[in-house]
Amino acid sequence: MLRRTKILATLGPASDQPGVLEGLFEAGIDVVRLNFSHGSAEDHIARANAVRELSKKTGRRVGILADLQGPKIRIARFKDTKVILEEGQAFALDINFDPLAGDNTQVGITYEPLALEVKPGSRLLLDDGRIVLDVVNVENMRVNCTVAVGGALSNNKGINLLGGGLSAAALTEKDKEDIITIGKIKCDYVAVSFPRCAEDLHEARRLLQAEGCHAGIVSKVERAEAIVDPVMDEIILASDAVMVARGDLGVEIGDANLPAVQKKLIKRTRELNRVAITATQMMESMIENPIPTRAEVCDVANAVYDGTDVIMLSAETASGKYPIKTVEAMHRICIEAEKQSAVRTSDHRVDHQFDRVDEAIAMSAMYMANHTKIKGIVTLTESGSTALWMSRISSAIPIFAFTGEEEALGRVTLYRGVFPIEFKNIEKDHAEVNRDIVKQLRKWNLAKDGDKFIITKGDLTGIKGGTNALKVIVVGQGLTP
Ligand code: PEP
Repeated sequence: MLRRTKILATLGPASDQPGVLEGLFEAGIDVVRLNFSHGSAEDHIARANAVRELSKKTGRRVGILADLQGPKIRIARFKDTKVILEEGQAFALDINFDPLAGDNTQVGITYEPLALEVKPGSRLLLDDGRIVLDVVNVENMRVNCTVAVGGALSNNKGINLLGGGLSAAALTEKDKEDIITIGKIKCDYVAVSFPRCAEDLHEARRLLQAEGCHAGIVSKVERAEAIVDPVMDEIILASDAVMVARGDLGVEIGDANLPAVQKKLIKRTRELNRVAITATQMMESMIENPIPTRAEVCDVANAVYDGTDVIMLSAETASGKYPIKTVEAMHRICIEAEKQSAVRTSDHRVDHQFDRVDEAIAMSAMYMANHTKIKGIVTLTESGSTALWMSRISSAIPIFAFTGEEEALGRVTLYRGVFPIEFKNIEKDHAEVNRDIVKQLRKWNLAKDGDKFIITKGDLTGIKGGTNALKVIVVGQGLTP
């Protein structure tokens, strides 16, 4: 059975093991994530090449998303790797302190302006909120704190400010260097970490385009200031996809606020015709265990009910013990969740006036598909736009994006309910094109005699935005083989 919700799997040492990437392909990954917070440029290039080779071998186009590290603010290192902090004790973060000599009274930091951006009473969350420090005062760039929640703290752990407000620019010097590598890899998507505003995303797009890379831009929403009006809409509109980056976002806004923010972000992202990704700790326990917890099963299913296009795996596939089993479990959960009628019906844009013919055709195809006995929709697309519009409508009907454009094949890998099929649409008469489409569908076991398919296409081939026709064919009848 075709799964509509897409699975994005992070690659790493676990997936580098012999046979694992092949297993992930078989289990049904749709897109891989190259995490530029870890590993060298050579690692990422080798992984991207391995994915491309397997895509070619299996005929299944798996997308590639490069995730920039961004300005993750971190403590420096401890003399003895880690310390234990007790609730109520004093602890200082100091930019001028030896970055290798931390102890249980103080540690260096990597972010110069921290002392200027906090004030007495500010709350700092370290190691994804496991350690909590309350700022007492700032003396000569040294941030003196009291430990509110103690525990073990080890080298290089991240720092967040509760409520947000740290001003670090989204693109660091390292990100700018990584963009050059990404330009060489020619990824399908690039994720920008900690964007503060739309301009951070425009800048990433400009830098990528200067490298000849036209990847889609993913904004990782992980700052408190990114979810307030009107910034949230501006960020969504400047992106091709939006990631609910629940790790850092949960730390900044408080974990209890996450479920509502996830729902709001996914809904608004889809309303604005962008793609939604739900990320972090979806199957966390499967890093160590072969089956998920009931809470994880429900979390994945709930993300599907929320309308997410994509669910993401991080350490589960990058460094966990059961990468393939994790993807198999996610697949199983999505298939069941997608049977619920609420995720198959739509009132998306019912009151909308369409200015574009191709957009109106895409919407009409979905209306017809949801109200007729249709096996699938074939959209002949140059840019992937018709597939994107169609996939914003909740439906149980699969959308097959037929395209000869490498860029469009990669883009649609993230769209919910859209399946990329490579198809060279050269100038032919319409009946011949129908025959070629049916041959492709039969080749992938997607069609049998009597199945009805909707086809959307343009009169002229090779024209972006040229879709102006919707037709229905019955497999094995009339002119179709
Ligand atoms: C997150 O914070 O949820 C996230 C996806 O970012 P990263 O995995 O890069 O820390």
